[in-house]
Amino acid sequence: MTPLLITIDGPAGAGKSTVSCRLAEQLGYTYVDTGALYRAVALAAVTKGCVPDDDRGLAEICTHLALRFENSLKGPRLYANGDDITERIRTPEITMLASAVSARHVVREYLLEVQRAMGRRGGAVFEGRDMGTVVFPDADVKFYLDADLDTRALRRFKELAAGESSIDLSKVREAMKRRDENDSGRALAPLKPAADAIRIDSAPLTVDEVVELMLRKIRASNN
Ligand code: C5P
Repeated sequence: MTPLLITIDGPAGAGKSTVSCRLAEQLGYTYVDTGALYRAVALAAVTKGCVPDDDRGLAEICTHLALRFENSLKGPRLYANGDDITERIRTPEITMLASAVSARHVVREYLLEVQRAMGRRGGAVFEGRDMGTVVFPDADVKFYLDADLDTRALRRFKELAAGESSIDLSKVREAMKRRDENDSGRALAPLKPAADAIRIDSAPLTVDEVVELMLRKIRASNN
């Protein structure tokens, strides 16, 4: 099978990361978490004291930001100008700020090129919000993974609660709802399924079932 470029879009908590990572593993492909790139810009903005609507400041940050993924035994690590920022981009503050900076044209233009360069050789699973619609409109197979808000919030709550005891489900749900609204309502590259995306509702399925279903669709598309 020639190396394919596969995209998986969908809202937060739909299971994209786990599924994309597993799928890439099964196919021997590279896994690219594009949300991490937006988070990296958000982290750089906080570090420089740049607010999300300061387009000049963001442009300056992007010009000097070199991002690369490197594989490790613990999964892919993200480096920004040589610093490993893999853990630092996972805080609630960076999560909301990533959503804010992702609505800015300068940031999307910069990351468009970064992502396309990463996908040039194919043989990759790209996970994000606009992979199938904007970044790789000619991708070989496109998926849109969704689930209802309550299911997604509960999943995220369980992930977070595993590390911290003081987390409140209703707050997790509220933050997720706000982020969904930002990501779907923005003018630039809003979250939506590509017209030719295969839609999967992950709510009633296990991770293995979603991956198996995707593998079947990929094989079928290649015949
Ligand atoms: O996927 P993750 O939750 O890490 O993404 C963080 C934020 O980055 C999202 O809320 C979204 O605003 C933005 N994003 C985006 N386009 C992508 C990936 C992520 O706008 N392709």
